[in-house]
Amino acid sequence: MTKYVVLNFPAYGHVNPTLAVVQELVARGEEVVYYNTEEFKEAIEATGASFQGYQSSMGQISAPLFLGRANNPPVGSILPKFMIEESRKVIPQVLERVRAERPDYIIYDGMALWARIVIQVLNVPAIMLRPSYAANEHTNLFAAQMAEQREAMPPEFFATMNPALADLCATYNVPPFTMREIFSHSEPLTIVFLPRAFQPAGETFDERFVFVGPSLLPRHQASDFPLEKLEKQPTLYISLGTVFNNQADFFNLCFSAFGESPWQVVLSYGKRIDPLTLHAVPQNFLLSAYVPQLEVLSRTDIFVTHGGMNSTMESLYYGVPMIVIPQMIEQALTARRVEELGLGISLDRDTVTVETLQEAVTRVSSDPVFRERTQAMQQEVRNAGGYRRAVDAIIQFSRSHS
Ligand code: UDP
Repeated sequence: MTKYVVLNFPAYGHVNPTLAVVQELVARGEEVVYYNTEEFKEAIEATGASFQGYQSSMGQISAPLFLGRANNPPVGSILPKFMIEESRKVIPQVLERVRAERPDYIIYDGMALWARIVIQVLNVPAIMLRPSYAANEHTNLFAAQMAEQREAMPPEFFATMNPALADLCATYNVPPFTMREIFSHSEPLTIVFLPRAFQPAGETFDERFVFVGPSLLPRHQASDFPLEKLEKQPTLYISLGTVFNNQADFFNLCFSAFGESPWQVVLSYGKRIDPLTLHAVPQNFLLSAYVPQLEVLSRTDIFVTHGGMNSTMESLYYGVPMIVIPQMIEQALTARRVEELGLGISLDRDTVTVETLQEAVTRVSSDPVFRERTQAMQQEVRNAGGYRRAVDAIIQFSRSHS
């Protein structure tokens, strides 16, 4: 039996795709110990992995990090700083515990800087998971997008963060690396939860990268959501995900755009707003702080989404065209990619109005090209292999390195 330790941070978008992988590893007789915060304990234990907890500051990183709002710094200027602070908080909590586990391999999320440092300190072979775009020598979308935001993100920004990162590396006596490398680093096995056809410049990624597409399992969550109401009318599903969703104004705008329309609308408003800030709910809307998204999407005609990578992949898995209203850099990349591939339309969160939203929905529902392209991508997504292919690759990698 091989022992894997999984190091991940507490965000649904990063945890959800790992659950099926972990469950499959356990089902194939491997041992998995998974580090995350208490919030994810139940979901992790339901996979058969054992759970180890730690405290994170992740809950504080949220709504103010919007793209393009005049008074808000872009997420790119906050994220690197946060990653360093989070590392200072998390590494002391987990380092000695992970050492004591004596893992054969560490599987970690590429955005968990603290995990990369733990791996270097312990010198354990590592496998990287990328729930979003992969980067290589040829394409580093995240860095490119930051460069586009030149005014808010001066080119020397990374350089100014580098001393703080060097200081962190020095604390743990690991060789220093740069901020830019955090986003472009890969491991000899890097699993990407996108199909290659969705990854820009997908053909430039070599055998280190395995594009498995979304890794979906039926979720371990009880829900009394009335799915039967979605069977009769065309359904519009609206969600801004679980992080950048503190947007009562936008949800109220959706009420005006689609209230009393022929659409059955499902709106997931998240756990960060006070429901009392919402206006009177139109009769054709079903509202919930958190909906069973896979079940809803399997009954949805159009998805109005923030373009989180999981939501995007889940939408494609069920062949649902999208209207993407991105809230931060990575989602803006996805909005652009969705338009480029003819899978939907992108709207700007700062200029969206009742009319532009209505028009977008009318266009996507009436032009068959969106559905055709989405169905073609649905095939790519389903053929990518999902969690089973991820686990095949992990086990094969482990055998060839033992
Ligand atoms: N999700 C859900 N119900 C909701 C909202 C979100 O099940 O009401 C799930 C969704 O299926 C996806 C994840 O939460 O797997 C959100 O991840 P994504 O990458 O789309 O966005 P994030 O929340 O990280 O911004």
